Amino acid sequence: MKSAAVRVGGQQNEVYHLLQRPWLLTTPSTRRDWVPKPGSSSKTDQHLCILRDDLLHPLYGGNKSRKLDALIPSLVHSGVTDVVTCGGVQSAHTAAVAVACAEHNMRAHLLLRGEAPAVPAGNLLISRMFGLCTHVTRAEYADRQSMLRRYLESLDEAKTAVIHEGAASPVALLGLIRLVNWLADEPSTVDNQRHCNQPVTVVIDSGTGVTATGVALGIALLQLPWKVVGVMLAGNEAYYRNQQQELITSFMLEYGRPAGLQWPSSLPLTWVPRLTPRTFGKVLPGELRQCKQVAQEHGILLDPIYTLAAWEMGWHLLRDAAPTELVMILHTGGSLGLQGLAQRFPDSF
Ligand SMILES: *Cc1c(COP(=O)(O)O)cnc(C)c1O
Repeated sequence: MKSAAVRVGGQQNEVYHLLQRPWLLTTPSTRRDWVPKPGSSSKTDQHLCILRDDLLHPLYGGNKSRKLDALIPSLVHSGVTDVVTCGGVQSAHTAAVAVACAEHNMRAHLLLRGEAPAVPAGNLLISRMFGLCTHVTRAEYADRQSMLRRYLESLDEAKTAVIHEGAASPVALLGLIRLVNWLADEPSTVDNQRHCNQPVTVVIDSGTGVTATGVALGIALLQLPWKVVGVMLAGNEAYYRNQQQELITSFMLEYGRPAGLQWPSSLPLTWVPRLTPRTFGKVLPGELRQCKQVAQEHGILLDPIYTLAAWEMGWHLLRDAAPTELVMILHTGGSLGLQGLAQRFPDSF
């Protein structure tokens, strides 16, 4: 492990040149909360570590900040005036893009799948406040490429850029590599070691899988003894493996084959189903009560669609983890999505 300790944070590390660029976030650092195992009294007992990325920005906190961290400055640098992206009506991605673009003097055009609800709350409200929204029928949306092409033609005077659903692109991975590079140097609670010298499992609730792939790529580039567990919420394993493959392939085309790594290598990334599988977007009885309980006991806001899945998986993995192993969950955000859910289940809160 010594070699990793020297490499991480130093000017000669493998990711140093990738990280010399302007960023959306002024610092890669984030708060870490340590939640003790329920019923444990001793300070030496294992804790679940929560990376509080949800606190990074009031409107695009969570993994959206990381995916946009390098992406937004690169658009600004290219002189882009108008950004086009798409997603569901309650997409946290479109809301995040709209806010970040507005903060940087770009117009965001958001193509939203499906009809608007009677009350525009949550992510939709933010998308409307900060961006220019167009609702698109599900049939039109099914053919995303021609939908986007037609829309771009209507903006022929502008310098435009398209951001794919979920920001699936090589530049979106850089913010996650930056996060890993920062985290590796941080002191752990275990013997005051740094995280880079201990086994760490990072649990990430996954939609498109971009976030989990980016963190796993950062771990591989820095050769850390860590692994990622991606909880599959919006597709099967074949979908996530394909996403991972496409992202890594396009990353290498964009930034070259990283030195010191065997490519195509398998990433330290395992895709696992949710502990209580269901079709994406479904909420099971009792889950909102569970989220309330975590909020009231720990001051951590979870939502039943995304972050509750990582929370449950984190505790599940901690049960069987070796004493030296650290289990972390990356808090991906989701608070605005929770507000959208309240529209659907007003009596459950
Ligand atoms: C967008 C989002 C995700 C999905 O992230 P991917 O990179 O698409 O896997 C997960 N959780 C929350 C709370 C999100 O907003």
